Amino acid sequence: MITKFLDRLLRRGPRPKSDQSGATLVAHKVSKKSHQINPALLSKNAVKVTHTLQQAGYKAYIVGGAVRDLVLGIAPKDFDVATNATPEQVQKLFRRSRLIGRRFQIVHVTYFGKDRPEIIEVSTFRAVLESVGEHIAESGRILRDNVWGTHAEDAARRDFTINAMYYDPSSETVLDYHGGMGDIRSKTIRMIGNPTKRYREDPVRMLRAIRFAAKTGFQIEPKTLAPIHELGQLIHDVPSARLFDEILKLLMSGHAWAGIQALRHANLHHGLLPFMARALEDPQAAQFIEEALRNTDERIQVGKSVSPGFLFAALLWPDLEKQWQSLRKTGMPALAALHAAIDAVVAPSHTGISIQRRHEGDMRDIWTMQPRFEKRVGRYPDRLVEVPRFRAGYDFMLLRSQTGYCKPSLGQWWTDFYHADLPQREALLATAKLEDIDSGQTPSNPNRKRRRRPKKTKPGPEIQPDSGLNGAKQN
Ligand code: ATP
Ligand code: MG
Repeated sequence: MITKFLDRLLRRGPRPKSDQSGATLVAHKVSKKSHQINPALLSKNAVKVTHTLQQAGYKAYIVGGAVRDLVLGIAPKDFDVATNATPEQVQKLFRRSRLIGRRFQIVHVTYFGKDRPEIIEVSTFRAVLESVGEHIAESGRILRDNVWGTHAEDAARRDFTINAMYYDPSSETVLDYHGGMGDIRSKTIRMIGNPTKRYREDPVRMLRAIRFAAKTGFQIEPKTLAPIHELGQLIHDVPSARLFDEILKLLMSGHAWAGIQALRHANLHHGLLPFMARALEDPQAAQFIEEALRNTDERIQVGKSVSPGFLFAALLWPDLEKQWQSLRKTGMPALAALHAAIDAVVAPSHTGISIQRRHEGDMRDIWTMQPRFEKRVGRYPDRLVEVPRFRAGYDFMLLRSQTGYCKPSLGQWWTDFYHADLPQREALLATAKLEDIDSGQTPSNPNRKRRRRPKKTKPGPEIQPDSGLNGAKQN
Protein backbone atom coordinates (compact mmCIF):
# COMPACT_ATOMS: atom_id res chain seq x y z
CA MET A 1 0.00 0.00 0.00
CA ILE A 2 2.81 2.35 0.93
CA THR A 3 4.57 1.66 -2.38
CA LYS A 4 1.35 2.36 -4.27
CA PHE A 5 0.88 5.57 -2.36
CA LEU A 6 4.44 6.67 -3.08
CA ASP A 7 4.07 5.74 -6.75
CA ARG A 8 0.97 7.88 -7.06
CA LEU A 9 2.53 10.62 -5.05
CA LEU A 10 5.83 10.82 -6.82
CA ARG A 11 5.06 9.97 -10.42
CA ARG A 12 7.15 12.39 -12.43
CA GLY A 13 9.56 12.85 -15.31
CA PRO A 14 13.04 11.33 -15.80
CA ARG A 15 15.68 11.81 -13.12
CA PRO A 16 17.98 14.72 -13.97
CA LYS A 17 21.61 13.76 -14.48
CA SER A 18 23.66 14.28 -11.33
CA ASP A 19 26.20 17.02 -11.77
CA GLN A 20 28.73 17.78 -9.08
CA SER A 21 29.73 21.17 -10.44
CA GLY A 22 26.02 21.85 -10.14
CA ALA A 23 26.25 25.48 -11.21
CA THR A 24 24.09 25.10 -14.31
CA LEU A 25 21.58 22.55 -13.08
CA VAL A 26 17.93 23.58 -13.09
CA ALA A 27 15.62 22.33 -10.38
CA HIS A 28 12.56 20.28 -11.11
CA LYS A 29 9.56 21.98 -9.48
CA VAL A 30 7.34 19.52 -7.67
CA SER A 31 3.83 20.72 -6.91
CA LYS A 32 1.81 20.06 -3.79
CA LYS A 33 -0.30 17.56 -5.74
CA SER A 34 2.79 15.42 -6.32
CA HIS A 35 4.75 15.77 -3.10
CA GLN A 36 1.68 15.80 -0.84
CA ILE A 37 3.59 17.19 2.13
CA ASN A 38 1.29 17.42 5.12
CA PRO A 39 1.61 21.01 6.45
CA ALA A 40 0.71 19.73 9.92
CA LEU A 41 4.14 18.04 10.07
CA LEU A 42 5.93 21.36 9.55
CA SER A 43 7.62 23.21 12.39
CA LYS A 44 5.87 26.58 12.79
CA ASN A 45 9.20 28.07 13.73
CA ALA A 46 10.91 26.83 10.57
CA VAL A 47 8.07 28.35 8.54
CA LYS A 48 8.49 31.64 10.48
CA VAL A 49 12.19 31.67 9.62
CA THR A 50 11.62 31.13 5.89
CA HIS A 51 8.87 33.79 5.89
CA THR A 52 11.00 36.38 7.66
CA LEU A 53 13.88 35.81 5.25
CA GLN A 54 11.58 35.94 2.21
CA GLN A 55 9.91 39.15 3.49
CA ALA A 56 13.37 40.71 3.67
CA GLY A 57 13.90 39.85 0.00
CA TYR A 58 15.99 36.69 0.34
CA LYS A 59 15.43 33.17 -0.91
CA ALA A 60 14.73 30.69 1.88
CA TYR A 61 13.76 27.04 1.97
CA ILE A 62 13.42 24.17 4.38
CA VAL A 63 16.11 21.75 3.26
CA GLY A 64 17.79 18.38 3.69
CA GLY A 65 16.58 15.56 5.91
CA ALA A 66 13.47 17.50 6.94
CA VAL A 67 12.20 17.58 3.33
CA ARG A 68 13.08 13.90 2.87
CA ASP A 69 11.11 12.99 5.98
CA LEU A 70 8.17 15.26 5.09
CA VAL A 71 7.84 13.61 1.67
CA LEU A 72 7.93 10.23 3.43
CA GLY A 73 5.16 11.41 5.75
CA ILE A 74 7.44 11.29 8.82
CA ALA A 75 7.58 14.19 11.30
CA PRO A 76 11.15 15.55 11.04
CA LYS A 77 13.02 15.75 14.33
CA ASP A 78 14.79 18.95 13.35
CA PHE A 79 14.53 21.57 10.64
CA ASP A 80 17.29 23.17 8.61
CA VAL A 81 16.81 26.25 6.44
CA ALA A 82 18.97 27.25 3.46
CA THR A 83 19.08 30.83 2.19
CA ASN A 84 21.03 33.19 -0.04
CA ALA A 85 21.36 35.66 2.87
CA THR A 86 24.81 35.70 4.46
CA PRO A 87 25.11 34.65 8.13
CA GLU A 88 25.44 38.32 9.15
CA GLN A 89 22.30 39.25 7.20
CA VAL A 90 20.43 36.34 8.82
CA GLN A 91 21.56 37.39 12.27
CA LYS A 92 20.23 40.93 11.78
CA LEU A 93 16.74 39.56 11.14
CA PHE A 94 16.42 37.36 14.23
CA ARG A 95 16.77 38.59 17.78
CA ARG A 96 17.53 35.20 19.30
CA SER A 97 20.20 34.08 16.89
CA ARG A 98 23.78 33.01 17.20
CA LEU A 99 26.57 32.57 14.73
CA ILE A 100 28.05 29.08 15.07
CA GLY A 101 31.28 27.64 13.71
CA ARG A 102 34.18 29.22 11.92
CA ARG A 103 35.03 26.86 9.11
CA PHE A 104 31.40 26.21 8.36
CA GLN A 105 29.40 29.21 9.58
CA ILE A 106 25.72 28.73 10.30
CA VAL A 107 23.17 30.68 12.32
CA HIS A 108 21.13 29.10 15.08
CA VAL A 109 17.75 30.77 15.55
CA THR A 110 16.18 29.76 18.85
CA TYR A 111 12.50 29.70 19.73
CA PHE A 112 11.31 28.94 23.24
CA GLY A 113 8.31 26.65 23.18
CA LYS A 114 6.22 24.98 25.87
CA ASP A 115 8.26 21.76 26.11
CA ARG A 116 11.75 22.62 24.95
CA PRO A 117 13.52 25.27 22.92
CA GLU A 118 13.64 24.64 19.17
CA ILE A 119 16.74 25.59 17.21
CA ILE A 120 16.38 26.22 13.50
CA GLU A 121 19.72 25.92 11.76
CA VAL A 122 20.08 28.47 8.96
CA SER A 123 22.88 28.02 6.46
CA THR A 124 23.87 30.16 3.50
CA PHE A 125 24.04 28.54 0.04
CA ARG A 126 27.59 27.29 -0.36
CA ALA A 127 29.75 27.06 -3.44
CA VAL A 128 31.08 23.77 -4.75
CA LEU A 129 34.80 23.73 -4.27
CA GLU A 130 36.90 21.50 -6.40
CA SER A 131 39.57 21.30 -3.69
CA VAL A 132 39.58 17.86 -2.11
CA GLY A 133 38.43 17.62 1.47
CA GLU A 134 36.52 20.85 1.81
CA HIS A 135 34.79 19.46 4.93
CA ILE A 136 37.84 18.06 6.63
CA ALA A 137 40.50 20.35 5.20
CA GLU A 138 43.25 21.54 7.50
CA SER A 139 44.50 25.12 7.96
CA GLY A 140 44.97 26.66 4.46
CA ARG A 141 41.62 25.54 3.13
CA ILE A 142 39.54 26.29 6.15
CA LEU A 143 38.31 29.75 5.21
CA ARG A 144 37.31 28.65 1.76
CA ASP A 145 34.48 26.64 3.28
CA ASN A 146 32.60 29.88 3.76
CA VAL A 147 32.47 30.73 0.06
CA TRP A 148 28.86 31.38 -0.79
CA GLY A 149 27.37 29.89 -3.92
CA THR A 150 24.22 29.63 -5.98
CA HIS A 151 21.20 27.60 -5.02
CA ALA A 152 22.16 24.92 -7.56
CA GLU A 153 25.68 24.73 -6.17
CA ASP A 154 24.34 24.33 -2.66
CA ALA A 155 22.28 21.38 -3.86
CA ALA A 156 25.31 19.77 -5.51
CA ARG A 157 27.30 19.97 -2.25
CA ARG A 158 24.77 17.88 -0.37
CA ASP A 159 25.38 14.18 0.05
CA PHE A 160 22.48 12.10 -1.30
CA THR A 161 19.80 12.98 -3.84
CA ILE A 162 17.06 12.44 -1.25
CA ASN A 163 18.80 14.99 1.02
CA ALA A 164 19.06 17.68 -1.66
CA MET A 165 15.46 18.85 -1.92
CA TYR A 166 14.22 22.31 -0.93
CA TYR A 167 10.71 23.09 0.28
CA ASP A 168 9.19 26.54 0.12
CA PRO A 169 6.31 26.65 2.61
CA SER A 170 4.78 29.80 1.02
CA SER A 171 4.33 28.33 -2.46
CA GLU A 172 4.19 24.75 -1.14
CA THR A 173 6.60 23.61 -3.86
CA VAL A 174 9.61 21.34 -3.63
CA LEU A 175 12.69 22.15 -5.71
CA ASP A 176 14.43 18.93 -6.66
CA TYR A 177 17.86 19.34 -8.28
CA HIS A 178 19.12 15.76 -8.31
CA GLY A 179 16.11 13.51 -8.74
CA GLY A 180 15.50 12.99 -5.04
CA MET A 181 11.76 12.49 -5.56
CA GLY A 182 12.41 9.72 -8.08
CA ASP A 183 14.86 8.10 -5.68
CA ILE A 184 12.33 8.23 -2.87
CA ARG A 185 9.89 6.52 -5.22
CA SER A 186 12.38 3.78 -6.06
CA LYS A 187 13.61 3.66 -2.43
CA THR A 188 17.20 4.42 -3.40
CA ILE A 189 20.08 6.07 -1.56
CA ARG A 190 22.18 7.64 -4.32
CA MET A 191 25.24 9.85 -3.90
CA ILE A 192 25.28 13.12 -5.82
CA GLY A 193 28.32 13.18 -8.13
CA ASN A 194 31.16 10.67 -8.06
CA PRO A 195 30.75 8.51 -4.94
CA THR A 196 34.46 7.70 -4.50
CA LYS A 197 35.43 11.35 -4.76
CA ARG A 198 32.70 12.39 -2.37
CA TYR A 199 33.63 9.77 0.23
CA ARG A 200 37.24 10.90 0.01
CA GLU A 201 36.14 14.50 0.59
CA ASP A 202 34.25 13.43 3.68
CA PRO A 203 34.42 9.79 4.87
CA VAL A 204 31.49 10.40 7.25
CA ARG A 205 29.27 10.13 4.18
CA MET A 206 29.90 6.34 4.20
CA LEU A 207 28.40 6.13 7.64
CA ARG A 208 25.55 8.42 6.62
CA ALA A 209 24.69 6.19 3.64
CA ILE A 210 24.39 3.22 5.99
CA ARG A 211 22.43 5.24 8.53
CA PHE A 212 19.85 6.45 6.02
CA ALA A 213 19.49 2.96 4.53
CA ALA A 214 18.77 1.57 8.01
CA LYS A 215 16.40 4.43 8.85
CA THR A 216 14.37 4.40 5.63
CA GLY A 217 14.72 0.75 4.59
CA PHE A 218 15.98 2.02 1.20
CA GLN A 219 18.66 0.25 -0.86
CA ILE A 220 22.02 1.87 -1.38
CA GLU A 221 22.47 2.15 -5.15
CA PRO A 222 25.34 -0.16 -6.31
CA LYS A 223 27.70 2.66 -7.44
CA THR A 224 27.13 4.44 -4.13
CA LEU A 225 27.70 1.25 -2.14
CA ALA A 226 30.72 -0.22 -3.94
CA PRO A 227 33.44 2.26 -2.84
CA ILE A 228 32.51 1.86 0.85
CA HIS A 229 34.15 -1.56 0.92
CA GLU A 230 37.45 -0.10 -0.32
CA LEU A 231 37.44 3.22 1.48
CA GLY A 232 36.28 2.09 4.92
CA GLN A 233 39.64 2.77 6.54
CA LEU A 234 39.32 6.51 5.75
CA ILE A 235 36.93 6.69 8.69
CA HIS A 236 40.05 6.70 10.92
CA ASP A 237 40.88 10.22 9.69
CA VAL A 238 37.62 11.68 10.97
CA PRO A 239 37.89 13.59 14.26
CA SER A 240 36.47 11.40 17.02
CA ALA A 241 33.96 14.00 18.27
CA ARG A 242 32.35 14.12 14.82
CA LEU A 243 32.23 10.33 14.65
CA PHE A 244 30.57 10.24 18.04
CA ASP A 245 27.79 12.57 16.80
CA GLU A 246 27.09 10.47 13.71
CA ILE A 247 27.22 7.17 15.58
CA LEU A 248 24.88 8.53 18.20
CA LYS A 249 22.44 9.53 15.43
CA LEU A 250 22.59 5.96 14.12
CA LEU A 251 22.07 4.47 17.56
CA MET A 252 19.18 6.81 18.36
CA SER A 253 17.49 6.47 14.96
CA GLY A 254 15.06 3.79 16.09
CA HIS A 255 16.87 1.40 13.74
CA ALA A 256 20.10 0.88 15.63
CA TRP A 257 20.20 -2.89 15.34
CA ALA A 258 19.57 -2.79 11.58
CA GLY A 259 22.19 -0.03 11.30
CA ILE A 260 24.81 -2.03 13.17
CA GLN A 261 24.10 -5.06 10.98
CA ALA A 262 24.53 -2.91 7.88
CA LEU A 263 27.81 -1.50 9.23
CA ARG A 264 29.06 -5.05 9.74
CA HIS A 265 27.97 -5.97 6.27
CA ALA A 266 29.90 -3.04 4.81
CA ASN A 267 32.82 -3.95 7.08
CA LEU A 268 32.77 -0.45 8.53
CA HIS A 269 32.24 -1.50 12.12
CA HIS A 270 35.93 -2.26 12.71
CA GLY A 271 36.91 1.33 12.02
CA LEU A 272 33.91 2.87 13.73
CA LEU A 273 33.29 0.87 16.85
CA PRO A 274 36.25 -1.47 17.23
CA PHE A 275 35.17 -2.49 20.74
CA MET A 276 31.79 -3.49 19.43
CA ALA A 277 33.28 -5.34 16.47
CA ARG A 278 35.27 -7.43 18.95
CA ALA A 279 32.27 -7.97 21.19
CA LEU A 280 30.04 -9.14 18.34
CA GLU A 281 32.38 -12.06 17.73
CA ASP A 282 31.51 -13.48 21.15
CA PRO A 283 28.02 -15.09 21.18
CA GLN A 284 27.08 -14.00 24.69
CA ALA A 285 28.28 -10.43 24.15
CA ALA A 286 26.52 -10.29 20.78
CA GLN A 287 23.28 -11.40 22.39
CA PHE A 288 23.64 -8.72 25.07
CA ILE A 289 24.26 -5.98 22.48
CA GLU A 290 21.43 -7.17 20.25
CA GLU A 291 19.03 -7.23 23.19
CA ALA A 292 20.10 -3.72 24.26
CA LEU A 293 19.75 -2.27 20.77
CA ARG A 294 16.44 -3.95 20.01
CA ASN A 295 15.00 -2.60 23.27
CA THR A 296 16.33 0.85 22.40
CA ASP A 297 14.74 0.71 18.95
CA GLU A 298 11.39 -0.29 20.40
CA ARG A 299 11.49 2.54 22.90
CA ILE A 300 12.39 5.12 20.27
CA GLN A 301 9.78 3.87 17.84
CA VAL A 302 7.02 4.42 20.41
CA GLY A 303 8.37 7.86 21.30
CA LYS A 304 10.03 7.04 24.62
CA SER A 305 13.30 8.51 25.81
CA VAL A 306 16.61 6.69 25.73
CA SER A 307 19.77 7.95 27.33
CA PRO A 308 22.98 7.88 25.26
CA GLY A 309 24.84 7.00 28.47
CA PHE A 310 22.77 3.84 28.85
CA LEU A 311 23.41 2.89 25.23
CA PHE A 312 27.17 3.26 25.45
CA ALA A 313 27.19 1.56 28.84
CA ALA A 314 25.57 -1.43 27.10
CA LEU A 315 27.85 -1.40 24.05
CA LEU A 316 30.97 -1.32 26.22
CA TRP A 317 29.72 -3.75 28.87
CA PRO A 318 31.08 -6.99 27.36
CA ASP A 319 34.57 -5.46 27.15
CA LEU A 320 34.29 -3.97 30.61
CA GLU A 321 33.14 -7.23 32.14
CA LYS A 322 36.03 -9.12 30.61
CA GLN A 323 38.58 -6.62 31.91
CA TRP A 324 36.91 -6.49 35.32
CA GLN A 325 37.04 -10.25 35.71
CA SER A 326 40.66 -10.49 34.64
CA LEU A 327 41.67 -7.76 37.12
CA ARG A 328 39.81 -9.59 39.88
CA LYS A 329 41.82 -12.70 39.10
CA THR A 330 44.96 -10.73 39.98
CA GLY A 331 43.58 -10.40 43.51
CA MET A 332 42.36 -6.83 43.22
CA PRO A 333 39.25 -6.09 45.35
CA ALA A 334 36.04 -6.17 43.30
CA LEU A 335 35.19 -2.48 43.42
CA ALA A 336 38.74 -1.29 42.77
CA ALA A 337 38.93 -3.72 39.85
CA LEU A 338 35.65 -2.38 38.47
CA HIS A 339 36.86 1.24 38.63
CA ALA A 340 40.17 0.34 36.99
CA ALA A 341 38.37 -1.57 34.23
CA ILE A 342 36.00 1.37 33.67
CA ASP A 343 38.92 3.80 33.30
CA ALA A 344 40.45 1.49 30.72
CA VAL A 345 37.35 0.96 28.59
CA VAL A 346 36.14 4.57 28.44
CA ALA A 347 39.51 5.89 27.26
CA PRO A 348 39.23 7.30 23.70
CA SER A 349 42.21 5.14 22.75
CA HIS A 350 40.02 2.14 23.53
CA THR A 351 36.69 3.35 22.12
CA GLY A 352 37.97 5.25 19.07
CA ILE A 353 35.30 7.90 19.71
CA SER A 354 35.16 10.63 22.30
CA ILE A 355 32.20 10.07 24.54
CA GLN A 356 31.02 13.32 26.10
CA ARG A 357 31.65 13.75 29.80
CA ARG A 358 28.02 13.88 30.84
CA HIS A 359 27.35 10.57 29.08
CA GLU A 360 30.45 9.08 30.67
CA GLY A 361 29.10 10.11 34.09
CA ASP A 362 25.83 8.26 33.36
CA MET A 363 27.78 5.19 32.23
CA ARG A 364 29.86 5.12 35.41
CA ASP A 365 26.73 5.43 37.56
CA ILE A 366 25.08 2.51 35.78
CA TRP A 367 28.15 0.28 35.89
CA THR A 368 29.14 0.94 39.49
CA MET A 369 25.59 0.17 40.59
CA GLN A 370 25.80 -3.37 39.20
CA PRO A 371 27.67 -5.09 42.07
CA ARG A 372 25.16 -3.52 44.47
CA PHE A 373 22.39 -5.68 42.99
CA GLU A 374 24.19 -8.74 44.34
CA LYS A 375 23.98 -7.44 47.93
CA ARG A 376 20.58 -8.65 49.02
CA VAL A 377 21.07 -8.37 52.79
CA GLY A 378 19.95 -6.03 55.53
CA ARG A 379 18.94 -2.58 54.36
CA TYR A 380 21.18 -2.55 51.27
CA PRO A 381 18.35 -3.24 48.79
CA ASP A 382 16.12 -0.59 50.42
CA ARG A 383 18.89 1.95 50.03
CA LEU A 384 19.61 0.95 46.47
CA VAL A 385 16.05 1.52 45.25
CA GLU A 386 16.28 5.05 46.68
CA VAL A 387 19.35 6.13 44.70
CA PRO A 388 18.47 8.68 42.00
CA ARG A 389 19.69 6.60 39.08
CA PHE A 390 18.18 3.31 40.26
CA ARG A 391 15.90 2.91 37.21
CA ALA A 392 18.77 3.01 34.73
CA GLY A 393 20.87 0.62 36.82
CA TYR A 394 17.91 -1.70 37.28
CA ASP A 395 17.12 -1.77 33.53
CA PHE A 396 20.77 -2.55 32.89
CA MET A 397 20.80 -5.37 35.44
CA LEU A 398 17.66 -6.83 33.80
CA LEU A 399 19.51 -6.89 30.52
CA ARG A 400 22.42 -8.68 32.19
CA SER A 401 20.09 -11.18 33.81
CA GLN A 402 18.46 -11.96 30.44
CA THR A 403 21.78 -12.65 28.77
CA GLY A 404 23.68 -14.67 31.33
CA TYR A 405 25.79 -11.86 32.79
CA CYS A 406 24.17 -12.47 36.17
CA LYS A 407 21.74 -15.01 37.62
CA PRO A 408 18.41 -14.92 35.73
CA SER A 409 16.57 -15.03 39.09
CA LEU A 410 18.20 -11.77 40.16
CA GLY A 411 16.16 -9.72 37.69
CA GLN A 412 12.88 -11.18 38.90
CA TRP A 413 13.88 -10.80 42.56
CA TRP A 414 14.55 -7.08 42.11
CA THR A 415 11.33 -6.54 40.18
CA ASP A 416 9.44 -8.23 43.04
CA PHE A 417 11.36 -6.28 45.65
CA TYR A 418 10.66 -2.96 43.99
CA HIS A 419 6.93 -3.65 43.97
CA ALA A 420 6.79 -5.13 47.47
CA ASP A 421 5.56 -3.59 50.73
CA LEU A 422 7.66 -3.85 53.90
CA PRO A 423 6.60 -7.36 55.07
CA GLN A 424 6.95 -8.69 51.53
CA ARG A 425 10.41 -7.18 51.35
CA GLU A 426 11.41 -8.97 54.56
CA ALA A 427 10.19 -12.25 53.03
CA LEU A 428 12.11 -11.60 49.84
CA LEU A 429 15.27 -10.91 51.81
CA ALA A 430 14.83 -14.24 53.57
CA THR A 431 14.53 -16.11 50.26
CA ALA A 432 17.57 -14.29 48.90
CA LYS A 433 19.57 -15.38 51.96
CA LEU A 434 18.63 -19.01 51.38
CA GLU A 435 19.36 -18.74 47.67
CA ASP A 436 22.79 -17.25 48.36
CA ILE A 437 23.61 -19.94 50.94
CA ASP A 438 22.52 -22.64 48.45
CA SER A 439 24.70 -21.18 45.73
CA GLY A 440 27.66 -20.86 48.13
CA GLN A 441 27.58 -17.06 48.17
CA THR A 442 28.07 -15.76 51.69
CA PRO A 443 26.07 -12.79 52.79
CA SER A 444 28.06 -9.87 54.15
CA ASN A 445 29.78 -10.38 57.50
CA PRO A 446 27.05 -10.52 60.15
CA ASN A 447 29.51 -9.55 62.90
CA ARG A 448 30.38 -6.28 61.24
CA LYS A 449 29.31 -3.32 63.34
CA ARG A 450 26.74 -1.07 61.82
CA ARG A 451 27.84 2.52 61.83
CA ARG A 452 24.38 4.05 61.86
CA ARG A 453 20.83 2.92 62.13
CA PRO A 454 19.25 2.44 58.75
CA LYS A 455 16.42 4.80 57.91
CA LYS A 456 12.99 3.24 57.48
CA THR A 457 12.23 3.42 53.80
CA LYS A 458 8.95 3.23 52.02
CA PRO A 459 8.57 0.93 49.03
CA GLY A 460 9.43 2.67 45.77
CA PRO A 461 6.90 3.79 43.18
CA GLU A 462 5.48 1.28 40.71
CA ILE A 463 7.83 0.23 37.95
CA GLN A 464 5.96 0.50 34.71
CA PRO A 465 5.96 -2.78 32.79
CA ASP A 466 7.63 -0.91 29.93
CA SER A 467 10.45 0.48 32.04
CA GLY A 468 12.71 -1.06 29.41
CA LEU A 469 15.69 1.10 28.65
CA ASN A 470 14.57 4.22 30.38
CA GLY A 471 18.14 5.05 31.21
CA ALA A 472 18.79 8.43 32.70
CA LYS A 473 15.64 10.17 31.63
CA GLN A 474 12.24 9.39 33.02
CA ASN A 475 9.23 9.49 30.74
P1 ATP B 1 18.63 13.44 10.16
O1 ATP B 1 17.19 13.24 9.90
O2 ATP B 1 19.25 12.28 10.77
O3 ATP B 1 18.94 14.75 10.88
P2 ATP B 1 19.73 14.82 7.90
O4 ATP B 1 19.82 14.45 6.45
O5 ATP B 1 18.86 15.99 8.22
O6 ATP B 1 19.30 13.55 8.71
P3 ATP B 1 21.83 16.36 9.05
O7 ATP B 1 23.12 15.92 9.64
O8 ATP B 1 20.86 17.06 9.91
O9 ATP B 1 21.19 15.07 8.42
O10 ATP B 1 22.20 17.26 7.82
C1 ATP B 1 21.27 18.12 7.15
C2 ATP B 1 21.57 18.15 5.66
O11 ATP B 1 22.88 18.67 5.42
C3 ATP B 1 21.57 16.78 4.98
O12 ATP B 1 20.27 16.37 4.62
C4 ATP B 1 22.45 17.03 3.78
O13 ATP B 1 21.74 17.72 2.77
C5 ATP B 1 23.50 17.98 4.33
N1 ATP B 1 24.67 17.24 4.87
C6 ATP B 1 24.88 16.86 6.14
N2 ATP B 1 26.05 16.22 6.28
C7 ATP B 1 26.61 16.20 5.06
C8 ATP B 1 27.82 15.70 4.53
N3 ATP B 1 28.68 15.06 5.31
N4 ATP B 1 28.06 15.87 3.21
C9 ATP B 1 27.19 16.53 2.43
N5 ATP B 1 26.03 17.02 2.85
C10 ATP B 1 25.73 16.87 4.15
MG1 MG C 1 18.63 16.92 10.18
